Amino acid sequence: MISTKGYAVQSATTPPAPFSYDHREPGPHDVVLDIQFCGICHSDIHQARNEWGNALYPMVPGHEIVGTVSRVGTAVSKFQVGDVAAVGCMVDSCRECASCRAGQEQYCDRGATIFTYNSQDKSGKLTFGGYGNHITLDEKFTLHVPANLDLAATAPLLCAGITTYSPLRHWGAGPGKKIGIVGLGGLGHMALKFSHAFGAHTVQFTTSASKVEDAKRLGADEVILTSGSDWAAPHAGTFDFILDCVSALHDVAPYFTLLKRDSTLCTVGLPEHPVEIPAFSVAIGRKSFAGSAIGGIAETQEMLDFCGKHNIVSDIEMTSFDKIEEAWERVVKGQVKYRFVLDLATLGS
Ligand code: NAP
Ligand code: ZN
Repeated sequence: MISTKGYAVQSATTPPAPFSYDHREPGPHDVVLDIQFCGICHSDIHQARNEWGNALYPMVPGHEIVGTVSRVGTAVSKFQVGDVAAVGCMVDSCRECASCRAGQEQYCDRGATIFTYNSQDKSGKLTFGGYGNHITLDEKFTLHVPANLDLAATAPLLCAGITTYSPLRHWGAGPGKKIGIVGLGGLGHMALKFSHAFGAHTVQFTTSASKVEDAKRLGADEVILTSGSDWAAPHAGTFDFILDCVSALHDVAPYFTLLKRDSTLCTVGLPEHPVEIPAFSVAIGRKSFAGSAIGGIAETQEMLDFCGKHNIVSDIEMTSFDKIEEAWERVVKGQVKYRFVLDLATLGS
């Protein structure tokens, strides 16, 4: 067994606290990573606090993981000891269904996607994520990190990056398209960077006046502050696609008025409570409301390689294990600029 130290939550109402546990010895296809950095995703908080109603405790959160390969199984071919490697939101799936064969393992038709934490592995054991110093997983679900990227700032690409890259690619963000990004948080700031890099005219929507200048620096062609009234009317019917990256329940109806006929508002934000969509807001103009979850393993590698080529990483604030609660509270208040990253060196002995 790989004895591991980390931080776990034991219930929906208790904060993360030190916790010791084991990861499996590497099987023939497994690698063991010594984790160096892990991003803090808003999903960590939703799940730790059981806001999605599917929490399994004890829970060691963290699915934006980068580290160094410390052991490899006998049949591993993609990695060697000493390689830098990364792990995102999932560590396995059925591998046989149509979705898995299509490289969409996050949509496994058998519902057998095994998530990096808050999930059960094939033997029924709970999976534990990146708020800990090791992880064992199959090399098929392990990613290569381009050598030119800052490692701590790369960690958030493994969830915030792929979750926004994938729908922007799927709905064709690129030259000649006007794309809206709602919410300038961890996901939103990556969406903004990608949409800009893909060559789309990119408009950032934010409720925070303090983020307007940052949005321009991060690549927004226009920034629309949504905290006032009547902000939508001047932009009605002009958008090709809007990506909603907001973590809390909010009124989505105005965004449908902004879309061109036959266009889509896609949510990647996963608020605790159901989203309300007035039927008229989609019927008039034949508009669509869609969702998207992370991205497949091949597309995650494609995204990392794209980031290597275009020198794209996350804007991060480093934090430490003794400050997780404070960090989580700032995430909930939308105050992070723009992603917290835990340094595993602060875990202590
Ligand atoms: P985050 O860093 O907290 O960012 C969320 C942003 O939403 C905030 O910065 C804020 O932006 C805006 N916001 C917050 N409360 C709001 C409110 N009441 N009304 C309007 N806007 C509000 O969160 P994140 O880590 O980017 O995650 C965002 C959401 O995506 C979460 O629900 C998370 O669970 C989900 N997620 C989904 C996937 C997936 O696969 N679909 C993957 C990862 C995360 P402004 O200050 O600019 O308004
Ligand atoms: Zn995440």
